[in-house]
Amino acid sequence: MTSQTRDREVESRLRARDVRYTSGRKRVVAALASAHGPRSAAELNAELLPDVPLSSLYRTLAVLEDAGIVSPHFGARGVTRYELAEWLRGHHHHLICVDCGSVDDVAVPSDLETEVRRLVDDIGMLAEFAPVNHALEIEGRCARCA
Ligand SMILES: [Zn+2]
Ligand SMILES: [Zn+2]
Repeated sequence: MTSQTRDREVESRLRARDVRYTSGRKRVVAALASAHGPRSAAELNAELLPDVPLSSLYRTLAVLEDAGIVSPHFGARGVTRYELAEWLRGHHHHLICVDCGSVDDVAVPSDLETEVRRLVDDIGMLAEFAPVNHALEIEGRCARCA
């Protein structure tokens, strides 16, 4: 998805809720789109300062989450991180570093993803649960910490 397509999709979803796609909101969406994984409010704030103050950043994240544009990730160390929702970012999984706590996205080639889906379906069958989606969390050490 190009950034223009992304902005058009986000804008129309916000407009449906009577919310304006302000330049501050655009900057937060662009920062999340260029990130390699979910980002906490503090990480986004450090990146976007002084353009987006922390108070309006929290508000923006809440608005974007309500509209289904941003999803929270509760992965590592009790820190809430945010990423673009799957319909914007594409299906992927997460690599969580047990040393530094970094969370990175990893998209899996489609043949591997087919195997993952089969495995998830098998687990669902065992548990009498009908899976509709999944996200793997792989814990380990990132390249910086290994
Ligand atoms: Zn690390
Ligand atoms: Zn992610």
